[in-house]
Amino acid sequence: MGSSDQTMLATVGHWVDGQEVPGTSGRLGDIFDPATGEIARQVAFATVDEASAAVAAASRALPQWAATPSVRRARVMFKFKELIERDFDALAELIVAEHGKIFSDAQGELTRGLEVVEFACGISQLLKGEYSDQVGTGIDAYAFRQPVGVCVGITPFNFPAMVPMWMFPVAIACGNSFVLKPSERDPSMANRLAALLKEAGLPDGVFNVVHGDKVAVDTLLTHPDVAAVSFVGSTPIARYVHDTASTHGKRVQALGGAKNHLVVMPDADLDQAVDALIGAAYGSAGERCMAISVAVAVGGVADALVGRVAERAQGIKVAPGMDRRAEMGPLVTRAHLEKVRGYVDLGVDEGAKLRVDGRGLKIAGNENGFFIGPCLFDEVKPGMRIYNEEIFGPVLSVVRAESFDEALALVNAHEFGNGCSIYTRDGDAAREFVSRVQIGMVGVNVPIPVPMAFHSFGGWKHSLFGDHHMHGPEGVRFYTRYKAVTTRWPTGIRAGAEFVMPTMK
Ligand code: NAD
Repeated sequence: MGSSDQTMLATVGHWVDGQEVPGTSGRLGDIFDPATGEIARQVAFATVDEASAAVAAASRALPQWAATPSVRRARVMFKFKELIERDFDALAELIVAEHGKIFSDAQGELTRGLEVVEFACGISQLLKGEYSDQVGTGIDAYAFRQPVGVCVGITPFNFPAMVPMWMFPVAIACGNSFVLKPSERDPSMANRLAALLKEAGLPDGVFNVVHGDKVAVDTLLTHPDVAAVSFVGSTPIARYVHDTASTHGKRVQALGGAKNHLVVMPDADLDQAVDALIGAAYGSAGERCMAISVAVAVGGVADALVGRVAERAQGIKVAPGMDRRAEMGPLVTRAHLEKVRGYVDLGVDEGAKLRVDGRGLKIAGNENGFFIGPCLFDEVKPGMRIYNEEIFGPVLSVVRAESFDEALALVNAHEFGNGCSIYTRDGDAAREFVSRVQIGMVGVNVPIPVPMAFHSFGGWKHSLFGDHHMHGPEGVRFYTRYKAVTTRWPTGIRAGAEFVMPTMK
């Protein structure tokens, strides 16, 4: 589509105070259909004033929502859950339309988001406090958690439904109001979720969406009325968000990039290990923060492993996401496709052995789509940029290690610490790995060890800046503040002023 046609395109506006409002900046981002390469619609980029208006709406809605009994807040979540189930396939199609992943995987993404809503339905139980009778003579103490205030979520392109849903169901159920700044590459889902929340009975202003780029993000990170910021995205931006928001006095959790290793021990079940690598490296075209991008082949397992992964990778069916036979769809944008291709070129230059080359893939009828086939490198070494850096595409690197200790040292030396896994039949090796590995989420014979919604999700090292993981118990802690209360109801006896702290007598 030429630029002269772009005035005809629909534009996604912001969602403030319970309704969609058009952008006024004149700055727009293109939203592509990754399967065709065409611009499908555009999204408004917010001004400082527009982002501030969303914070103002959230601030106005906050007191009444925070004072709403938690059971009533939970009922909105129950209704929201029903509405997502009602619109399930249409929502999954919207994910495919703007992200490109295959339909069944989009359904899976939505399911994982829905599970956080289900967790948030139990908020009354989760917010129950502590009580101690008679902590002093006639004195009782209790403690409970209260909402923090206006919360902000800034989210990446690769899970347009699930990652926002890691955040706002818990934040809102805890009694906060929320402003979401979704990825500008697949922003429509945010407005769709906002409309469903409204239909579920959420009061206007409790959930708002601001679209855009650094202008919107910086406004939210520095706004005096924002209390907490949750971020998920690449490591440089995560670090920036963490540092900027913390400097401005906000509570921050900022999840960053990843380079997840799967260690294959010589005693592993090779069929299971190959299945695991194929799904975890090439599912969602590698655009997952928990994708496996490095296989560590220990001892003599390497030749057999590489041969079998290569054979399977070549057979993966790459096609548009709505093609029900597809196992892998396109990448999100042409710019991202060029970046991933560039890494494959670089790996060849760096001396790694390219065993499967997906660069030349063309899909008949979708020649302009952002497709690349699975790529497999063997004999990758630490120090190569394709090993050190996150590629975020369907590119698997195999590193050969002599021993368990060498494999573990590799994982621990890497800058990222999101997820990892070990494939072995040796319980002792697995236990040792779990104990000594410096990674936030660990799998044993499980390729993608994503915690369920009632546990919490997050990495270590440069994969997370801040203290709290997301959703589950950590999410409730992040979105609430602890209040401790000491009470006494004296019955007429006045002790007079006390000038010393209580002693043991
Ligand atoms: P990104 O960092 O480019 O963008 C994330 C968000 O930050 C978007 O909303 C974007 O608009 C905003 N942003 C981008 N540049 C900015 C800037 N200069 N200043 C302020 N805001 C800015 O990430 P992405 O490409 O959308 O997503 C992919 C990345 O996200 C990968 O690195 C992936 O590993 C990571 N990710 C991590 C997790 C996790 O749980 N750790 C989960 C999903 C994705």
